[in-house]
Amino acid sequence: MSTPNHKIRLLLELRGTGVTDTRVLSAIERVPREIFVPAALRDRAYENTPLPIGLGQTLSQPTVVGLMTQALELQPKSKVLEIGTGSGYQTSVLALLARRVYTIERHRPLLGEAEKRFRQMSIHNVTSRFGDGWKGWPELAPFERIIVTAAPEEVPQALLDQLAPGGIMVIPVGPAGDQRLLRIRRGEADLLFTTEELTMVRFVPLVEGMPDAAEGGR
Ligand code: SAH
Repeated sequence: MSTPNHKIRLLLELRGTGVTDTRVLSAIERVPREIFVPAALRDRAYENTPLPIGLGQTLSQPTVVGLMTQALELQPKSKVLEIGTGSGYQTSVLALLARRVYTIERHRPLLGEAEKRFRQMSIHNVTSRFGDGWKGWPELAPFERIIVTAAPEEVPQALLDQLAPGGIMVIPVGPAGDQRLLRIRRGEADLLFTTEELTMVRFVPLVEGMPDAAEGGR
């Protein structure tokens, strides 16, 4: 199948912003972003822009998905935890590059939609859960990779605790308007954390606890 022009343009844009890992680029090429956006925005699916997915949440900009995925240094055997399933787009990209992806979302309607898309795409290595990702998924820890797609003001301790020795976490941290994308590596032997700042980003906040009726949750 040939790649349509709008997709080629997006892939060039990804390279331009430093996404050069060919495995990451080909995963992004293979995931049809149009099925993750509301019908009314489908013709904008390959623009390099974040798009609203309902309940005040957004599907991240493709270059940010690319940079975060690349920063994770996924291995085919990686066991990954993702916080903030949202539309399931980032999850699907991860699922093509890792052995298994565990993903948590605190808005049940978004999770339901994302799960439908995983089935539609015949993705079978994703396990998803409705819950508060602030606490991670302790029953299944440790994880070799952790990716957080909403921004807390500080890295949640539970997530640090659940990162395997030699593991990598990619997480946006900071208040609205001043968020930095961090890559945190955990030492294989000494278990110590080393933090690198990758770039400035803009994410919805990582909210603690579950939504109430006013927030549109259930
Ligand atoms: N990766 C997503 C982007 C989702 S936006 C995508 O590709 O579409 C961030 C998501 O994080 C939102 O869906 C929001 O509901 C979710 N979120 C925020 N705080 C959370 C928490 N404490 N636990 C789980 N999910 C959370």
